[in-house]
Parts: sequence; C-alpha cells; structure tokens
Amino acid sequence: MIPYGRQSIDQQDIDAVVEVLQSDFLTQGPAVPRFEAAIAELCGAEHVVAVNSATSALHVACLALDVKPGDSVWTSPISFVASANCARYCGGVVDFVDISTTTLNMCTERLADKLKDAAVRGKLPKVVIPVHFAGQPCDMREVFELSLKYEFRVIEDASHAIGATYQDTRIGDCRYSDITVFSFHPVKIITTGEGGAACTQSADLARKMQLLRTHGITRDPSELCTDKGEGWYYEQHMLGFNYRMTDIQAALGASQIRHIHRWLTRRHEISDQYDTAFSDSSLITPTRLTDRYSALHLYCVQVPGERRRVFDTLRQAGIAVNVHYIPIHLQPDFVEFGRRRGDYPNAEKYYENAISLPMYPQLTAPQQDFVVKTLLASM
Ligand SMILES: *Cc1c(COP(=O)(O)O)cnc(C)c1O
Repeated sequence: MIPYGRQSIDQQDIDAVVEVLQSDFLTQGPAVPRFEAAIAELCGAEHVVAVNSATSALHVACLALDVKPGDSVWTSPISFVASANCARYCGGVVDFVDISTTTLNMCTERLADKLKDAAVRGKLPKVVIPVHFAGQPCDMREVFELSLKYEFRVIEDASHAIGATYQDTRIGDCRYSDITVFSFHPVKIITTGEGGAACTQSADLARKMQLLRTHGITRDPSELCTDKGEGWYYEQHMLGFNYRMTDIQAALGASQIRHIHRWLTRRHEISDQYDTAFSDSSLITPTRLTDRYSALHLYCVQVPGERRRVFDTLRQAGIAVNVHYIPIHLQPDFVEFGRRRGDYPNAEKYYENAISLPMYPQLTAPQQDFVVKTLLASM
C-alpha cells in the first residue's frame, strides 16, 4: 500500500530516542528545551513552547490570548477540526471565512468584507486563525493589516507548514501573528510521534503557554506570591493542563529537524513531477505562488465531477489517497454554530472534487509513476 503521507525515520533518529531511554529523564529533562531551541533557530522564532500535540498548542494559544466564553474565533472551513475546536475548549463561538479558490487558504478579501460587516454589528472576532493549507502560507500581510484595523489577535495554524517561507519571513517567526502553531504528527513534515509547538515573539504569551502546559504551576522565585525559600515549594497560578512533550519525543524531533531542508526539496521534486504529469489533463493542480515557499505537506488535486470514482479506483489499486478536508462547518457537531450547506461555496466546491495524492520524502519514482498512471487511467 502507498499511503498519502508518512514519516521517515533513520538510524540516527532511533539512536537519539534510545539515548533518552538510557538517560535519567524520560520527561522534564534537557531534550525538550534543546528541541525548542532547534525550532527557534529553524524558524527565527523568539520563544518556542513544545507541547504534546498541535491541538494542545492551539488550546493554550487561545487561552494565552484570553479567549473566553462567548468570544468569537474565525478560521478556515477547509482545515482539520482542531483549528476550530481550540476556540470551543475555551467556550468560544466558532465562525468561518470562505477559502480562496486559488490558494485554498482563508480568502483575505472575504475576511475584509466579513470584518466590515461584523464591525457594524459589533460582532468582531477576538482571534482569527488562518491555516497554511497543504503547507502553502496564507496571505499573512493582509491578515496582519486587518488585525491592526479591527484589533483582533492572530494564531497561524502552521501544522502543515514548518520550514515554509512567506515573502521575507519564515513561518514561525510570527512577523504577522501573535502565535504560530506546528504539528509533529507522523504525517506532517517532521514528527515526534505525537507533538506540537507554539512560537511567539512575546515573552508574556510564551510564559503563559509554558504555565498552561504544566498545570499552571510555577516554582520560579520571582513569580511566587509567598517565597520562604522552601526548596519543595510551588504555586498554582492558573488552571493548566498536563500538555507536556516527553524527552523521548523531543529527542526524536531534534533529530528529525536535521533533515528538514532536504525533505522539503524532495517534496518540491515530487510536486514538480505531478504538475508535469497532469499538465494536459483536466485535473486542477495546486497553485504556485512566487512570493512564498510551500512546505508541501499535501499534494491535493481537484478531479471535477469524478472524485468518487477516481478515489475508489486508486484505493483499490493500493494507493491510500485521502480527502483534506470535509468542511468543518458541515460536521454534525458544529451545527450549533448555525452554519449550513451553501454558506461557504468555495470550500464546499473544493471539497466535492478534492483528492490528496501520496506526498512524502521517501515516495519512490516508480511508486509515483504508478500513482500517476493509475490516476490518469481512471479518469
Ligand atoms: C494535524 C493538524 C492539527 C492537529 O495536530 P495534532 O498534532 O494531531 O494535534 C491541527 N490543525 C491542522 C491544520 C492539522 O493538519
């Protein structure tokens, strides 16, 4: 079977994990700060807080930005449900902005229109969460300018996009956002098994997220309400969680990060091959933009009118294609937010035709040829 995405693990990754297993600390040891420093260096991030998933990172990001019951949070309907659930964990009200048919990201013209309308009704969002779908960065400069005008905060869901660049910024440097979140699930660009991270330029937001990651507990003498110099003493300052990443995971992550540029280059080669192979077909291939470098987490094509048949044929041939994503507003559990079929036509139309083809660094040329031939023959 050829999956749509998968991890790459070499002996050095395995050795890094074994080394932790033989050390004193499986968690709360030195590997987590080391991994955080490696992410910071890769992305130009000021502060990095590693946690046990991107879902947790999105949750602590929303809490750090003070999302409270009733606050409105907007995201893209074409994303994984976690992009929206983070707001719900805080009691927030989720709303969506339709996608652009070219970038497949949140459409910033629609965002501008929706904000204008929301301002009139006094219903502006507290936080907007653009998602860098498939690894292609969103139009962050436009989002940032709107955030200044309408005074909302921005969390980039960059679960697909570690290693991507946008104009003269690196995704994760938070040039145009408050917080940027990465995922290290095995299908993503680099993996820790399960894991995530939140990047920010703000020391204050970073500290809040560090506290939320570990029960809201501090032992830092400068932060304690009462400090009698007792060595065992700690205080809980807010209701936090156990969202810690283990040292086992962090060591794997730090080892994985060594490969990232080579792996992104390989993803671009695979994408180039697909683009060429499909250039004479009726398939709609991903849009390329010259001012940004996609991490190409996914290679999603649109098969007008024939998605179901093509999907089934590829699956039967042992190619585990997938669909990213079922629009979040159509999920039964989102009915309470009052959005229904027809509300986001670009997202819904994209979903009707989308298929994610195999895309991962170790996909071989013969495997890719097989995918291409099987797909073209099925149309
Ligand atoms: C994978 C993913 C997440 C969640 O990541 P986890 O690390 O599995 O919690 C969130 N948002 C998007 C867009 C994703 O693709």
